[in-house]
Amino acid sequence: MRLLAGAATDVGMVREGNEDGFLIDDRLQLFAVADGMGGHQAGEVASATALEALRASVATGTALEQAVTAANAAVFEKASADEALRGMGTTLTTLSIDPDGAELLVGHVGDSRAYLVRDGELRQITEDHSLVEELVREGRLTPEQADVHPQRSIITRALGIDAAVNVDLVPVEIQPGDRILLCSDGLTTMLRPSDIATVLRREPDPGRAADLLVDAANAAGGEDNITALVVEVEDDGAAGITGARVVIAGAVAPAPPPDVEPTIPHRRRRRQGRGRAVGRVILWTLPVLIILGVAIGAVGYYARHGYYVKFVGGQVVVFQGVEGGLLGWNPTKVESTGITREQIKKAGGGAAIDAIASTKTFESRADADVYIARVRRQIVLADKPTTTTTIVPTTTTLPPTTTVPGVATTTVPATPPSGP
Ligand code: MN
Repeated sequence: MRLLAGAATDVGMVREGNEDGFLIDDRLQLFAVADGMGGHQAGEVASATALEALRASVATGTALEQAVTAANAAVFEKASADEALRGMGTTLTTLSIDPDGAELLVGHVGDSRAYLVRDGELRQITEDHSLVEELVREGRLTPEQADVHPQRSIITRALGIDAAVNVDLVPVEIQPGDRILLCSDGLTTMLRPSDIATVLRREPDPGRAADLLVDAANAAGGEDNITALVVEVEDDGAAGITGARVVIAGAVAPAPPPDVEPTIPHRRRRRQGRGRAVGRVILWTLPVLIILGVAIGAVGYYARHGYYVKFVGGQVVVFQGVEGGLLGWNPTKVESTGITREQIKKAGGGAAIDAIASTKTFESRADADVYIARVRRQIVLADKPTTTTTIVPTTTTLPPTTTVPGVATTTVPATPPSGP
């Protein structure tokens, strides 16, 4: 098996600077994402310091857990020595090959994440060291509540805060075709796991996949710095892991560079490649289609949910919809009431004639029926008692108005008695 890696980082749509950083070192087969925090430039210093210390430590043969501990010490010392950097810290989620070469090992502190993607399914490997995730684990918050919790960015463990740090180590058994995603919370707070899985399923190139993930997070608001690092397990026929190849931000590296730049925190992905252009189209098209769909649905609802009453050939007719139609939704006739303009006129219903002539609209069928019943009642009351029986089929013309029981029941019974 061989590892292919690609990564992208971006400042996002809101933040001033990018405090995230990533590390891809093909010689050491070491990968990491760090999300720094601290005022001014301190966050950037924290993530860069941690990544460089991690790399330097692994380069001397140190095991991953101790290398993360060394990264913590480096950030802590730097923060203690410089007033301007006091209080800085960083997350660190790192991936390397287990010493026996059969599986991968994740080292983790903070709320950046590692996911395993197998057969298109996303499985979170790491646990967030954040306040809300701890509350979720204790059953005091639901995952849904955690997702929108105002304190969701508060982390409970980070490098550089204390002289000692507790490092999570997670072994990861891998198969050819698996992908590991390392990412900062700027990705996971903007995208649902299913959205992340979709991108990783569709885009075969790891660098471009990382790029598309960052684009998607930006399209979703980009409220934080965003970093995605995708490591792919490729089958090269050999047992164990034989080598790694670096692919950064959609660009395929022809050969591993002799000395890999450890951190690229400031690097903005401003590559004008075809992959990127295609990515933008796909990622912007989908939300636009969803918005259009919702808008069309809303117009359709508006165009169909109302009722109106108007004269057709001197007769009162009830229609459903908006008069004249709306974007292809045409109104439909739902009832010919049999009431004529003449009858209303005779009953002294000048106001009703005016209202109906200029199209009287209703929120619901029940409202329209109540109105028709009232007009009918006016005609009946004004008419001679002898004709009453012929014009009073009110109770039968009223459709099931049970949806508005209060209105229907108050109006209907008032009709049958002929005037005093
Ligand atoms: Mn962040």
